[in-house]
Amino acid sequence: MRIIVQKFGGTSVGDEEARLKARDRVISAKKQGFDPVVVVSAMGRRPGPYATDSLLDLVRSKGLPMDARGLDLLASCGEVISCVVMAGYLKAAGYEAVPLTGAQAGIRTDAQFGDASIQGINTARLLDVLASGQIPVVAGFQGVTDDGEITTLGRGGSDTTATALGVALRAECVEIYTDVEGVMTVDPKIVPEARLISAITYFEVEELANNGAKVVHPRAVHIAQQGGIPVRVRSTFAESEGTFITDDVARRVITGIAHVDGLARIEAVYPNPAEPSRARVAILKAISTIGINVDFINVTPRAILFTVKDEFAKAVEEALRSEGFACHVMAECAKVSVVGAGMQEVPGVMARVVEALHRAGVHIMQTVDSEITISCLIDQASVAQAVRALYDEFDLGAPGM
Ligand code: ASP
Ligand code: MG
Repeated sequence: MRIIVQKFGGTSVGDEEARLKARDRVISAKKQGFDPVVVVSAMGRRPGPYATDSLLDLVRSKGLPMDARGLDLLASCGEVISCVVMAGYLKAAGYEAVPLTGAQAGIRTDAQFGDASIQGINTARLLDVLASGQIPVVAGFQGVTDDGEITTLGRGGSDTTATALGVALRAECVEIYTDVEGVMTVDPKIVPEARLISAITYFEVEELANNGAKVVHPRAVHIAQQGGIPVRVRSTFAESEGTFITDDVARRVITGIAHVDGLARIEAVYPNPAEPSRARVAILKAISTIGINVDFINVTPRAILFTVKDEFAKAVEEALRSEGFACHVMAECAKVSVVGAGMQEVPGVMARVVEALHRAGVHIMQTVDSEITISCLIDQASVAQAVRALYDEFDLGAPGM
């Protein structure tokens, strides 16, 4: 068998025209001799009636009490509807298709409702369906616990379903169909002439996704990497090869740029600089107690600096003040990151980042770096200038990536 997983996102199954295009992608894979396993997201986006957020609004917007288990049961319906409908389109075109929920497709998860992790996949039923020449159409974003509870895999989780199935079935490739051409060197909303990246390593896509590029879910990429299954991100609507994700790519110094807006930078000051250790522990404990995630953490001899999403700044400020810590909050910050698997071997990359931002008049508040990523915290109003400056500095418009 030549298994290929084809995953269609919400906009790729959002209306009649899109569903016909998606259907044709599956039929064309079948005609090329592949055995497609189709994975679908819920149809459309809010306010579309079957989108995940619209379903959740049925209880959330009315303030109806519901536990996480109930919300997952509700959210899972979007993909269930979608898989039946897409199977219908394939049947109408003369192909035998079998709609399956995540549970019916053998996807077992833990019981972390709202953000469950896949524990294993029993592929027996899928392999049966494939062996009989039929096309399984699997509801993405969901699974089942050993106790039979329906769970969801976290927002954007259909990508995870796709790569996890790809690994479990040893697919030749996982195709992620979406409404953009693939992974771009930079956000086209900022740089309209942004170019498509034709090939990129898993680690780079994961870093770009973790730092704000929205095209594919980082957890899905991680699973594909671990299983050694190549992924292709491509458009349902445009004729393009899209972006091929594999480890077999020449390393570039900088491959792409990503950014995250809507951050608040918080500086929590120690009351007594002569006694920093106790203050550090108390500050970080106070934030973890209210369950808020911090990023860009910088521990200095007189204060701790970090970022949270803007919407959490108030809660953090209150928690720290009530523990007796003075803090300074700077709202509307953004994180701009350059990612490249080849930067490790090359001296002077940081110097170029800093110089490019300096030339563009962008003030850097903090930086953080890992093996293949350099991130700068800046004022949100400067994001466009910063991204453009880095794009020019690292020649991300040049052909041949
Ligand atoms: N429908 C789910 C969501 O909106 C999962 C997905 O689309 O991947 O998050
Ligand atoms: Mg998605």
